[in-house]
Amino acid sequence: MLKRGVAWWVTIGAMILAAAGHAAASIKVGDMRYFSAPDHTRIVVDSDQPLSFQTMELKGPERLVIDLKDAATAVASPRSFAVGDSIVQRVRVARYDAGTVRLVMDLVQPVQSKIFLLNPLEDKPYRLVIDLNRSDLAEKEHKARVQEQSKERRIIVIDPGHGGDDVGAVSRQGTYEKNIVLALGKKMRDCINRKPGFKAFLTRDGDYFIPLEKRIVIARDYNADFFISLHTDANLNKGVRGASVYCLSLKGASDEAARLLAERENASDMFGGVAYADDKDLNSILVDLVQTQTMNDSLHFGGLALNALAGLNQVKFKQPKQARFVVLRAADIPSVLIETGFITNPEDERLLKSASFQQKLAGSLSDVTYEFVSLLAKRDGIALPGAPAETGKTGRHLVQPRETLSQIAREYNTTVGELVRMNNLRGGDHLVAGRELVIP
Ligand SMILES: [Zn+2]
Repeated sequence: MLKRGVAWWVTIGAMILAAAGHAAASIKVGDMRYFSAPDHTRIVVDSDQPLSFQTMELKGPERLVIDLKDAATAVASPRSFAVGDSIVQRVRVARYDAGTVRLVMDLVQPVQSKIFLLNPLEDKPYRLVIDLNRSDLAEKEHKARVQEQSKERRIIVIDPGHGGDDVGAVSRQGTYEKNIVLALGKKMRDCINRKPGFKAFLTRDGDYFIPLEKRIVIARDYNADFFISLHTDANLNKGVRGASVYCLSLKGASDEAARLLAERENASDMFGGVAYADDKDLNSILVDLVQTQTMNDSLHFGGLALNALAGLNQVKFKQPKQARFVVLRAADIPSVLIETGFITNPEDERLLKSASFQQKLAGSLSDVTYEFVSLLAKRDGIALPGAPAETGKTGRHLVQPRETLSQIAREYNTTVGELVRMNNLRGGDHLVAGRELVIP
């Protein structure tokens, strides 16, 4: 889903009006937009100075009124925009009096509102954030996630980074990271859902923002076996390209570049907009001392992922790097962050925008995820339904037409990684028929 925005800027007429005797209305109200999440609707109002406001709840029909004080917008005619999600029907905007812009939100049913101001940040002006929450829907979402917990299936949580007002990295052509990683995440979810005994979920499946720590809460609700956060990188130098893989570090970062990258990704909450005072309870679920095993497992996956990525596009490093990424701080879930390429590089951008490359990338990352999580299950003595029974077959295998490495790996109860290693293969999943493979 794309950002649906309603934009207008103060017209010359309104400014003349203000100058002509409504000097009180000194704050210019700019762009307004909304984002629909499953359990809340967020409305964002830009302004050139911090807005102050008063709210009022009205019944029959249910409405929330917000008066923006000392403010002016285009006033020639009242404006309104339809939202039409499960929370808000419509937002109506009008000048209430000389110094007041009135927003009326026609609600589907009563909501819990949370309204807060954000200071300017890079290209963002002052923002008034109006979150209209329905706790009944949030509870329903939470319960649905918990119900998906299962010992019978391996659960993968895919986290498309950013969303909503946090667009992530932006290319020169105006491509947004948030849109690329959502498209990629959906493709990866579908690939994983075709693997026997595996089920994948997304932290977000639309264009709305989720705070970093909430993404971990979602993974924990599912009792995920693996968490993978998808991103695209950016650099002022458009020649820089290639994919890279990151894991958590609780101490220093691998290097200065990794530290800066983590800083940039961690700034997500500031761009997306988080009312910090209300999210303190989330901190309690984050453990500073991440288990060494979880950490080592994440690094193991990082190595496998880099191998797979190298078969599709350039990679920046041969080893996964580490830094203090907030979104990777689940103590007991192996977690990695993939920078799938640089959208500031024309060639990477072209690839990342192409549906066929996204499909290849999703397929490759899904294969590696399947291989990795199957290995963890095997190590922990967990039998996966749909996984092949122990065949005990060893020796050599003659590749049949259209046979893939994953199929052969399943047949011999081994992994693609092992087959690649034993046979000195290079990434990818396609083989030439007639080739003989050594089976571990
Ligand atoms: Zn990112």
